[in-house]
Amino acid sequence: ACTAKDVAAALRTAAEKVAEHRVELVELDRAIGDGDHGENLHRGFTAVVSTLDQAVPETPGAVLKLAATTLISKVGGAAGPLYGTAFLRAATALGDRATMDGAGVAEALRAAVDGVRARGKAEVGDATMIDALEPAAKAAADSARDGDDVAVVLTSAAAAADGGAQSTVDMVARKGRASYLGERGVGHLDPGARSSALLLRAFAEAAR
Ligand code: ADP
Ligand code: MG
Ligand code: MG
Repeated sequence: ACTAKDVAAALRTAAEKVAEHRVELVELDRAIGDGDHGENLHRGFTAVVSTLDQAVPETPGAVLKLAATTLISKVGGAAGPLYGTAFLRAATALGDRATMDGAGVAEALRAAVDGVRARGKAEVGDATMIDALEPAAKAAADSARDGDDVAVVLTSAAAAADGGAQSTVDMVARKGRASYLGERGVGHLDPGARSSALLLRAFAEAAR
């Protein structure tokens, strides 16, 4: 099971992952949007790390809530409120429990994805972060049913997110800026789906 400190460490790994892939995310967004996704997330996760440098809250839920409020205030654009909602819903799902096991991860991820869907009104097939997140939540739930290891659950989620993100290449976007392109957007990986997959990969790596 993982503690508040482990969740804080996972967010630091996520910040490193975003920094490594900042240019890639900018280029993906430049092709079908306004080219700021990598900068937006980098600014947000850098702020999350600075906040965690001050103090780490006591529970996994409180750490995720702090990340949510920081992301909402720093990321901006479409992705800021969506990722903010995701982390906030995950925090709410965990409540004040002191540790999170594999089943808790699956529960938190399901709540996060449902929150993004409620907020952005995108479904699977619309070429957004939902195409990475929804299969990830399903894979996490399946994996948690077979065993309760946090790293195993997150690794299953990350693999499903990679596949889901890749599937956006063949889609016509129906939400966000990319939807303005219609058929011309086909052939491009959605930046938010890519960043969702990267974040889950970072969380899985941190849990190992
Ligand atoms: P903006 O488009 O405002 O510049 P970003 O570039 O940071 O914001 O984020 C773009 C990403 O946000 C898209 O690639 C997509 O994955 C995601 N996105 C946009 N609108 C929605 C929505 N309604 N539901 C889910 N995800 C969305
Ligand atoms: Mg953008
Ligand atoms: Mg923008």
